[in-house]
Amino acid sequence: MSERASETSADPITIVGGGPKKVLYTLRTLSRIGLLNSTKALKARNTCKACGLGMGGQHGGMTNELDEFPSVCNKSIQAQSSDIQPPIPNELFEHTLDDFKELSAHELEHLGRLNTPLYKPAGSNRYQPMDWDQALTLAAERFAATEPNRSFFYSSGRSSNEAGFVLQLLARLYGTNNVNNCSYYCHQATGVGLGNVIGTGTATISLEDMGGADLIFVIGANPASNHPRFVHQLQHCRERGGQVIVINPAREPGLVRFAVPKSARSMLSGGTWIASRYVQPNIGSDLALLKAVGKALLEQHALDTTFIEAHTEGFDAYRTDLEQTDWASLTSACGLDQSDIEALAADYARAEHAVFAWGMGITHHRNGVDNVEAIANLALLRGMLGKPSAGLLPLRGHSNVQGIGTIGVKPVLSEDVLAALESHFDLELPRTQGLDTLACLRAANAGEMDAALLMGGNLYAATPDATFARRALDRVGFKLYLTTTLNQGHIHGMERSEALILPVTARDEEPQSTTQESMFNYVRLSDGGIRRLTNVRSEVAILAELGKRLLPAGPFDFGALREHDRVRSAIAATVPGMEALADIGTSHQEFTIGGRLLTSPTFNTPNGKARFQVHSLPVAREPDFPFTLASIRSEGQFNSIIYEESDSYRGTEHRWCVLVGPEDRERLSLKAGDKATLRSAHGVMENLTVYPFNLPTGSLLAYYPEANILIGTEQDPRSQTPAFKSVPVQLETGT
Ligand code: SF4
Repeated sequence: MSERASETSADPITIVGGGPKKVLYTLRTLSRIGLLNSTKALKARNTCKACGLGMGGQHGGMTNELDEFPSVCNKSIQAQSSDIQPPIPNELFEHTLDDFKELSAHELEHLGRLNTPLYKPAGSNRYQPMDWDQALTLAAERFAATEPNRSFFYSSGRSSNEAGFVLQLLARLYGTNNVNNCSYYCHQATGVGLGNVIGTGTATISLEDMGGADLIFVIGANPASNHPRFVHQLQHCRERGGQVIVINPAREPGLVRFAVPKSARSMLSGGTWIASRYVQPNIGSDLALLKAVGKALLEQHALDTTFIEAHTEGFDAYRTDLEQTDWASLTSACGLDQSDIEALAADYARAEHAVFAWGMGITHHRNGVDNVEAIANLALLRGMLGKPSAGLLPLRGHSNVQGIGTIGVKPVLSEDVLAALESHFDLELPRTQGLDTLACLRAANAGEMDAALLMGGNLYAATPDATFARRALDRVGFKLYLTTTLNQGHIHGMERSEALILPVTARDEEPQSTTQESMFNYVRLSDGGIRRLTNVRSEVAILAELGKRLLPAGPFDFGALREHDRVRSAIAATVPGMEALADIGTSHQEFTIGGRLLTSPTFNTPNGKARFQVHSLPVAREPDFPFTLASIRSEGQFNSIIYEESDSYRGTEHRWCVLVGPEDRERLSLKAGDKATLRSAHGVMENLTVYPFNLPTGSLLAYYPEANILIGTEQDPRSQTPAFKSVPVQLETGT
């Protein structure tokens, strides 16, 4: 299914993202958290707590690095609303875990902020408040009694660079490289794929570059919901006569037309057309489509041969593979007509400055790395790297997920970073291979993990196969959580094990400034300083104190790492490109990490050339499971956090539902509101409400994390990313 989505499109005018309903929703949220609170939070010089696009910091409030005027952003307000909650009264913890299990994810998050350490003994069914000294002593005792390689350390992308750095250093000095972050469940395939092609793993362009692009691809992503202000970039591209090509099995309303709240013209006209071409391949067929676009470009002689000859290698093998792949195998896999793919390629051939942006619709597959490499191949074919306003842009999720990886919260550090850490701190670090996130849970399931430190996030909800996740986490004898609010991860997978929850400051409450890295490799400084709660501590203070108690005879005084300036000096001295971090606390000078942006076509590979990659198509669908399901996030959701049950863009009123395309509805005689069952090799979702949606035949959608019950733990072998977005399922009518 491919068509030009323009003013002549058949889409009804009512299909609009953004607009008055978004403004009203945001105003309602603001009034709930109070005008004074929200003004203070939104004006302060802190990085936005939500998506990785990056806003705020020293430019103030919701302003970006180009000082563009602030505008309403639903996601940012939602994140604030969670932090600006009163504390949960201690009496609530007289309830049992079974009582808490009755609450939905949304209800748990909205009980309030945690304001006291909570302890749950092994086998107990209750959390009980505990004082800080007792809690930290207990945590240190449990880790001291654990063989380090029978433990793991995890961080979400919410935490600061400073906290992440102390966490990974603590884990390594304690004796394990089982250090990982949530990117193993999102963009790890991007890092691996880009590393193979261009030698670096993040965006090659700045936000400023977006302003000069005449074509922006949005592949496997829904920025209208997940990176709201990115839609302004798409709108601006259209307004200056450029193209926006959306590749997504689901026809997302917010990518068809979007009423940009800060644009009067956009609001009054009922929305701006976003996609100039909207292409809907079958779920999981991205590689076939991307190869087909490459084949069409070859046949149209639309290559930049000068660039290819001077700056790449491996092109002959790539060309031979495409020539030997017949059109029928590509079109039958992706479900698109050859003429539509050729038209898309012709659009690309017309562009002089193309940006390729992609999200987890590309990475969440068993061939996620192949998909990323295939996107990079297309950029190489037309020389779209190493020049202004053209390049590669992975749309990163959480506001500091990229930074957490940069500063070393990962199981494998490069030898030069390890050596720099050893030299800076005059110590030795372990060289044993660390386990990635899912491998840690597999080890836990096998009874090989006795302790875990989980900083932020919700590892239970984020993990595929909810039954496996619950069992694996309960087999970890002792779990230490650092968090601002309660979530299902603190309630499930707890039946037998011991757990301690330490309440932490939110980013804008940090007593010292912290730093975060955006998906444009831009490092922001957050002032912190807002005081809302009386009994929370910063993550850095907690980790430094834990290090002091756990490693009292260690090579240096962990307590000294309470000082964020000292932590930043260590990062600047040991992590390439982060040198400017050393004095950011006093200079307040935000910066772009060195060596990341490609301003010339010289790549970070041994010979400076980018490397074309050749891929085989994945095997076809399993016949017993004729549908392919992608798990999706809603407008009222951020990662595993649920702010609203309904999804205003897709028209769903609750989350226990399945979205079905027109041909499948007709074939199965399903209509809106009917009940259906989804069944996979791993689990069943019954009594789901059917909602109509614009999808290709055989492709279905259901909300994450609820749909995790259907998703297996098979991973992309090249990146260890689970296949959250291509799950073979059966769809049965009725309950
Ligand atoms: S687009 Fe992302 S970074 Fe910008 S304000 Fe919205 S949530 Fe924050």
